[in-house]
Amino acid sequence: METTAQLNKFELLKTHFGYDSFLPNQEEIINNVLDQKDTIAIMPTGGGKSLCFQLPALALDGTAIVISPLIALMKDQVDALKANGVPAQFFNSSQPYEEQQQVLRELQSGNLKLLYVAPESLPQLNFILKTIKIGLFAVDEAHCISSWGHDFRPAYTQLKSLKEQFPNVPLIALTATADRATREDIAVQLAIPNAETFIASFDRPNLYLDVRPGQNRNKHIFDFLRNHKNECGIIYCLSRKSTEKLAATLSAKGYKAEAYHAGLTSEERTQIQENFINDISPIIVATIAFGMGIDKSNVRWVIHYNMRKNIDGYYQEIGRSGRDGQPAHTILFYSFADVIMLRKFAEGSETEAYQLAKLERMQQYAEALSCRRKALLGYFGEHITEDCGNCDICRTPPKYFDGTLIAQKICSAVARLQEQEALGMVLDVLRGAQNAQVYDKGYQNIKTYGAAKDIAWRDLQQYAIQLLNQGVLQIYFHENGRLLLTPLAKKVLFEGKKVRLAVIIQEVETVKTERAPRKRAELFDKLRELRLKLAQEINKPAFVVFSDATLEDMEH
Ligand code: ADP
Ligand code: MG
Repeated sequence: METTAQLNKFELLKTHFGYDSFLPNQEEIINNVLDQKDTIAIMPTGGGKSLCFQLPALALDGTAIVISPLIALMKDQVDALKANGVPAQFFNSSQPYEEQQQVLRELQSGNLKLLYVAPESLPQLNFILKTIKIGLFAVDEAHCISSWGHDFRPAYTQLKSLKEQFPNVPLIALTATADRATREDIAVQLAIPNAETFIASFDRPNLYLDVRPGQNRNKHIFDFLRNHKNECGIIYCLSRKSTEKLAATLSAKGYKAEAYHAGLTSEERTQIQENFINDISPIIVATIAFGMGIDKSNVRWVIHYNMRKNIDGYYQEIGRSGRDGQPAHTILFYSFADVIMLRKFAEGSETEAYQLAKLERMQQYAEALSCRRKALLGYFGEHITEDCGNCDICRTPPKYFDGTLIAQKICSAVARLQEQEALGMVLDVLRGAQNAQVYDKGYQNIKTYGAAKDIAWRDLQQYAIQLLNQGVLQIYFHENGRLLLTPLAKKVLFEGKKVRLAVIIQEVETVKTERAPRKRAELFDKLRELRLKLAQEINKPAFVVFSDATLEDMEH
């Protein structure tokens, strides 16, 4: 039976938010919350997560407590709610004491429908929360609770006790990070084991996905801009210095471009953001500090000037373009020099292995030889069977052959290893390697041992990566990056699904490597470009292999 709250929801949608219909998954999620059940909502950036707790907040009795990590965004959301006649407030450390006291009084009076609070400030509210009626807890950007997530916030760990203290208040956790390990961790950390999980499609079919080698980036950018006059766009760079340099170069050529990074004052940053939102300066050259929560619908392109450290961040950033559903263009410049720099950033961190594995996956995406969208969506656990036709690879595909048998062998090895092993071991087993790691685990006795010994290690590795990019395999980043079979793999193994693989040629080049690492990286990039050219000319992918052991290490 539908509750009054359920029946009210279309009315609320119209009167308070001005919409006639729900976006995909919103209604199901809202229904679950209105039934007072715990919920995990995974939706891409711009998917409409806020409504999933704002609307129930209005329908349910009491006050909804929204935990949000971004102080700047809280004010925006609260202002928007107030403008729509919703009694809402926020509470955080940026407020003067008097204002905080005022908010606490409002909270105590029970008139607030929503209170946004920073996780750090939650303990200050604890006493009052025990005395008022709470309708709902909403944990926005919930991936921040997972130390495996890409932006862990220690203060989020305090949220562990919410469910303990308020067992009868429904809790909704929302995030755009769909990585399976992070998702499972959210349920554990928030102590909501029975939460229903809703995963919206991450597909943004209007985004053209383009990856280009990192040489002559500026020339590529100028050529691109010449064909995209008067459009708004964002260029992401790795360092503050490079944002300023590039913005200056663009300005010198007559483009209205501004640099944005965390080194500017908050007034400067607000001004730049506003100029961008109001189309006064249509090009922003920024570090990744820019864009969280920016709701501008007509961003027509996003360029990553540098390689990104993981697919999660990359996808979030390109997702800032084309929010209006109209075609948008994204370009990632891929350079090995950037990869080396990103590896350095990760080194020494507590989650180094995890971060390096994610970076490697990003690299594999950049080197994909099949539909990029398949690779991206596969990473998020969504497995499509058709090529998208809207990426650089679909536009100029390499030469493929029927790789079904190879794919079956690889998948079957993963299955025989109970999905417990990472790529290296899977390959060793398939190649029939005689090493201690294999023998220690007794893997020489399993059925697929040596099943692909006729294929060179490097080729086999490339084929397996192609399967990752086609969404047939997936990496479980949580535990040593073990390989998992996806529903597509099951079709390959049991339903005779055919698999195309790109032809590989090993081009072995010997390069003297007693040079500075930077020089070597540059050299490597040149070779990679050569390889791409070669691949285009002969319509086959080729590989450049270094003779130097250190560099091989770096590449692995
Ligand atoms: P997210 O938090 O998932 O990134 P937001 O909650 O900020 O997304 O919503 C993104 C945009 O979608 C906002 O401009 C919001 O107003 C709009 N939106 C949300 N729900 C609807 C709806 N049902 N119909 C139309 N637009 C919507
Ligand atoms: Mg949001």
